[in-house]
Amino acid sequence: MIKPEAVQSGYSGKIIDMIIAAGFNIKALKKTKLTKEQAGAFYAVHKERPFYGELVDYMSSGPIIAAVLEKENAVSDFRNLIGATDPSEAAEGTIRKKYAESKAKNAVHGSDSDQNAQVETEFHFTTNDIV
Ligand code: UDP
Ligand code: MG
Repeated sequence: MIKPEAVQSGYSGKIIDMIIAAGFNIKALKKTKLTKEQAGAFYAVHKERPFYGELVDYMSSGPIIAAVLEKENAVSDFRNLIGATDPSEAAEGTIRKKYAESKAKNAVHGSDSDQNAQVETEFHFTTNDIV
């Protein structure tokens, strides 16, 4: 996902460009806005964390762009492309280093395992959307 502050700031095209240039195949793509309930469900794994409430408010605060990306080693390669959660710790040239505003408003989400990538794909898309 491209998160609300990055969409709002006009970085979507540049971020999608970086994703394509890094060799990912876009299998599905859409702009949408999450309700609080949807954002809460998407991040349910973080329910007990102190930042959960703010994360849910933030992720439902404006439009996001959701995508399904295909590549060999997609999960680890995408996490390398986006960089560390906190942009101040993210490597030069990563999406978060370039475009994130803060540790909370950090421009992009990436799945953390193949299994969660499948769950998160089904959260946003149906099989007909994936081409
Ligand atoms: N987050 C936050 N404060 C923290 C850690 C995380 O606001 O101390 C937010 C941030 O937006 C992050 C999301 O919660 O991207 C999910 O956290 P996770 O540790 O899974 O980081 P990610 O996988 O996105 O790098
Ligand atoms: Mg995560």
